[in-house]
Amino acid sequence: MNLLTIDVEDWFHTSALESYISREQWDAQESRIERNLIQLLDLLHQREIKATFFILGWVAARYPQLVMEIAAAGHEIASHGWRHQLIYHLDPTTFRDYTRRAKQLLEDITGQEVLGYRATSFSVVKKTLWALDIIKEAGFRYDSSIFPIRHHDLYGMADVPRFPFRHDNGLLEIPPSTVTVGGKNIPFGGGGYFRLYPYPLTKAMIKAVNRQGYPAVIYLHPWELDPECPRLKGLDRRTGFRQYVNLHKTAGRLERLLADFQFGTMAAYIADNFGTG
Ligand SMILES: [Zn+2]
Repeated sequence: MNLLTIDVEDWFHTSALESYISREQWDAQESRIERNLIQLLDLLHQREIKATFFILGWVAARYPQLVMEIAAAGHEIASHGWRHQLIYHLDPTTFRDYTRRAKQLLEDITGQEVLGYRATSFSVVKKTLWALDIIKEAGFRYDSSIFPIRHHDLYGMADVPRFPFRHDNGLLEIPPSTVTVGGKNIPFGGGGYFRLYPYPLTKAMIKAVNRQGYPAVIYLHPWELDPECPRLKGLDRRTGFRQYVNLHKTAGRLERLLADFQFGTMAAYIADNFGTG
């Protein structure tokens, strides 16, 4: 069994576009989230696969019916924070406020307890480890915000375990997947990596993780299935690549992935392996 996670945000929420589209401009953008999510829910329904959806507060506030639809389909509802801000751009007081507000909103919509948190762009890094206490105090049971790879421009912390572990404060951490090659952790668990790598490579890496006795943790965004997603002009090359590479291939690859492997939710995995403690 592997773990499929979806970060529910629209194409204009990404950290890659943060310096091109301000938060004040979000409401004016062409939203693709409803159609993209419905497509994704259909794919999962066909395979009878349940996933964990980390939903951005901004999206939940505007589309509460989408949150209800995801929950009604039997998927796990989890939190992707409030306004898609990197934690190292927030002070602890603001982060606490956003984190609590995001959890409360999802719980108000679904009437169910929200157990999981994933930070914007895996922005729990060395200098934002203070966030872990705030996430725990907000009532989350697990976190999936640390990418166990060498730090690059947005995220990464190489010296944490690659597989689920507990922080000193008791919070459970479920990192996105990596494989080790030549002593280095190589990310493959989803998003841009899933779009960049040929599918057979992703498949081999999932099998390598499974051979070690762990589930692969895959993450995707609804906009990554959408080749019609609006194209911004004037992006620097790296941002354009990050945002748009292989969008036309993702849906087909996801279908292959869902056919080749079994998936379940984070909550079910935790209940089976870590009990209620
Ligand atoms: Zn995100």
